[in-house]
Amino acid sequence: MANDRSIKVLLVEDDEDDYILIRDLLGEVPEQQFQLDWVATFETALTAIHQHNHDIYLVDYRLGERDGLELLKLINQQNDSPVIILSGQGDRALDITALSSGAADYLDKSYLHSSVLEHYIRASIERNQAIKALRESEKKYRELFKRENQLRRELSRSNAELQDFAHIASHDLQEPLRAISGYTKLLKTEYSSEFDSTAHEYMDFVIDGTHRMRGLIEDLLTYSRVGTSELILGTVDCNKVVEEAITNLQTSIEEARADIIYRDLPCLTADRTQLVQLFQNLLVNAIKFRRQNISPQISIHAESTEDKSWLFKVVDNGIGIKTEYYDRIFKIFKRLHTHREFSGTGVGLALCRKIVERHGGKIWVESELGNSSTFFFTIPNNSTNQNNPTNQSRSSFFFPSIDFLER
Ligand code: ADP
Repeated sequence: MANDRSIKVLLVEDDEDDYILIRDLLGEVPEQQFQLDWVATFETALTAIHQHNHDIYLVDYRLGERDGLELLKLINQQNDSPVIILSGQGDRALDITALSSGAADYLDKSYLHSSVLEHYIRASIERNQAIKALRESEKKYRELFKRENQLRRELSRSNAELQDFAHIASHDLQEPLRAISGYTKLLKTEYSSEFDSTAHEYMDFVIDGTHRMRGLIEDLLTYSRVGTSELILGTVDCNKVVEEAITNLQTSIEEARADIIYRDLPCLTADRTQLVQLFQNLLVNAIKFRRQNISPQISIHAESTEDKSWLFKVVDNGIGIKTEYYDRIFKIFKRLHTHREFSGTGVGLALCRKIVERHGGKIWVESELGNSSTFFFTIPNNSTNQNNPTNQSRSSFFFPSIDFLER
């Protein structure tokens, strides 16, 4: 109903006296303009209804041999304007039938008063508009729901494709790589006397290339696995997780004379294996990107935040990162150095980001170029996550080198 224009009413009524009654009642309503059209038969009503020209229909129950309920059904099939059924005398059974058949309301003509009629018309139109808006939003939600389901299906299909790709990468790519690497080593050992120094140098390039390619394939596989495999959540003590990462890196820690401090790390709900990978990658980088002749000093802290997350900080005293690369380094295969300066595949931080994001957190870096870097990440807290203040550890290992850092 538009307040700024008159309400168009179609009256379907075979009794002219009743038409006059309704016309006069509507004419008495103050401040509201009604434009009343009148049709006296079922058939002429059908023609008018086809034109969709009215905001509301007032339909008399008795229409010669036909009745208003029959017309109500036809109106509802092709029109969404409300219908009020009128009858000459109060009839409760008709009232109930009319409403359950889709009438907006039922009115007894013998008790009509202009304010009552006006109220019923206005209320019916407003209710009808509210229902239309509700249907419209329901339709939108259904479409959104459908789209979401479709996206879910596409996502699981692309996950399956990614896993297929991981499978192909592991078998089909590694197989020829093994052959190249094996035969190159054979050439080098069995034909070395026939090669001059340049040929030896070329052989070394090939071996180095295959070595790096193997690293790339393995890291890519790890990355795709972390993205597609189901999270196995459990209560995880981060002190133990860091301890395990340190044990895995013992050789490089010893070689670099790295000092790693961690304390008061919390217990939280997470995928343990992925958390080990996360800390391990950050530690690998903190050790690898160290300054010349300065042994790495690394510390790991955690604190709870106002938004019910754990905020972890991994601080090193390494070469640092220029501000303009803060985002770029978290993208897969993005590196800031050649492999001659620092070995690596550029997958480590992308993997860290994937792990953190799969746990519902964020990861970022802040750095002082030439001095230090701090990697921050959050993991949402929940009821099982609690601080573990009794654990205070310091780790300083000195063992032979491992191949993880050599990639
Ligand atoms: P990779 O270590 O294989 O190069 P990453 O994805 O782990 O790949 O890191 C991307 C880049 O971010 C690195 O090449 C390096 O330039 C920079 N970077 C990562 N961690 C550190 C750090 N602790 N200190 C300085 N630079 C870092």
